[in-house]
Amino acid sequence: MATTIAPVQIHRSVQEFLSRPRKLLIGGQWVDAKSGKTFATYNPATGEVLAQVAEGDRAEIDKAVAAARKAFESGPWPDMSPAERGRLLWKLSDLIEQHHEELAELETLDNGKPLLFSRIVDVPTAVDVFRYMAGWATKIEGTTIPISAPHAKYFAYTLREPVGVVGQIIPWNFPLIMAAWKLAPALAVGCTCVLKPAEQTPLTALRLGELIQEAGFPDGVVNIVAGFGETAGAALASHPDVDKIAFTGSTEVGRLIANAATGNLKKVSLELGGKSPNVVFADADLNAAIPGSASAIFFNQGQICTAGSRLFVHKSIFDKVVDGVAEESKKFQVGPGMNESTNLGPLVSKAQLARVCGYLDSGAKEGAKTIVGGHRIGNTGYFVEPTILVGVKPHMKVVREEIFGPVVTAIPFNDPDEVVAFANDTIYGLASAVWTRDISKAHRMAAKLRTGTVWINCYNVFDPALPFGGYKQSGWGREMGHAALELYTESKSVCAQL
Ligand code: ADP
Ligand code: MG
Repeated sequence: MATTIAPVQIHRSVQEFLSRPRKLLIGGQWVDAKSGKTFATYNPATGEVLAQVAEGDRAEIDKAVAAARKAFESGPWPDMSPAERGRLLWKLSDLIEQHHEELAELETLDNGKPLLFSRIVDVPTAVDVFRYMAGWATKIEGTTIPISAPHAKYFAYTLREPVGVVGQIIPWNFPLIMAAWKLAPALAVGCTCVLKPAEQTPLTALRLGELIQEAGFPDGVVNIVAGFGETAGAALASHPDVDKIAFTGSTEVGRLIANAATGNLKKVSLELGGKSPNVVFADADLNAAIPGSASAIFFNQGQICTAGSRLFVHKSIFDKVVDGVAEESKKFQVGPGMNESTNLGPLVSKAQLARVCGYLDSGAKEGAKTIVGGHRIGNTGYFVEPTILVGVKPHMKVVREEIFGPVVTAIPFNDPDEVVAFANDTIYGLASAVWTRDISKAHRMAAKLRTGTVWINCYNVFDPALPFGGYKQSGWGREMGHAALELYTESKSVCAQL
């Protein structure tokens, strides 16, 4: 691990934040768990405890849902004008921006990701999402509809109304961004929220809770209950007074959420796993495709649901591209996220390290050949080498299952039809990419790939205006853009006889 530059001096406000046990935000108050229990969140670069956090469970979820219900039905929130909601969201985005460095450091300490990326990706994206959704608050429109029902004349129109109390369960890979993706559209349309951050990374969501209070959101509009998935998460997903549950995480847990939601048939949206195909044609600009394919898999240590984890390369350029991606992988500065020079950090947790190493072992046992990487780095922290596997077969676990680590399988193909079949041979359908200079081929491929997003000559480009979500077992519904408003509203038809 080449880390030549000294670690960043941790911001004083971050030290202060970490020095106090963190509580839960329920009904506008910061409270301990009724059980008195706390859990530790760790620094993945060292494995040391970073902070203790109150451990919410069913009792806290019950209280938070009751607070969200009260705030939805009475008090200032339901009477607020759309413009006032928009202003609150805008104010929150300003506050996040003002606390940019502090939030970036907190994210890096808790998740492990390079500070470089917390600064240029995580915090600015959260700001942009709140700002984009602030604009929608005043544009939630229905339609007037001429109807032909007999015997009289009618005036008919639709209203879009907030779905109600929303439960939101988020993962650990982009903790602040995921909180923003969930909260911003729900608040823009007038819902109230109970957010459960991942147990591995609760800190930025809790800090965001303080900023939400500072922005002036009424009590109970946003409740933040940290805790474990099997307890707090399960209680939220099955809660009879939650109108909608929005989840981002593994496909396995997504299935549990969908089942838990059946009790009161709450609305469900899911953003789940992926095994995204990244296709490089012989006519691609390799100066872009090679580094693009490396960052497609290695960005965020491969812990991103859209990771380009299956690299398909035309056989005529297979060795050249694989060698190129291998060269790129060696350029990464692997180290603690708090070092300025680091651009590849540790995995989030010991469990994630074990999971990724398990896949490396399984690939080796099943006969995959390692071009670069293949091992854990050192004994401190949860670092893994960027890894490229070749000689893989379609049935291998490393080809079929989501690894969620810096591990890519590279596979040669002969022609577009073959690569479409390879690419779509998965239970997932989140994202894909195509690298080619032939625009007709690019768009033909875009039509054939069964994924919610297709990138052409780029990768991992997200925007608050661009809908995002999955085909097949990658999820239900679309977040971002106008589509996100539909997730958090009901349509009401009003029909008046004239
Ligand atoms: P990972 O396995 O990578 O940790 P998960 O899908 O388990 O990903 O976690 C995503 C989120 O889902 C986290 O907030 C976690 O606490 C939550 N979660 C895990 N299990 C459950 C469950 N049974 N019910 C509700 N939420 C859960
Ligand atoms: Mg889990």
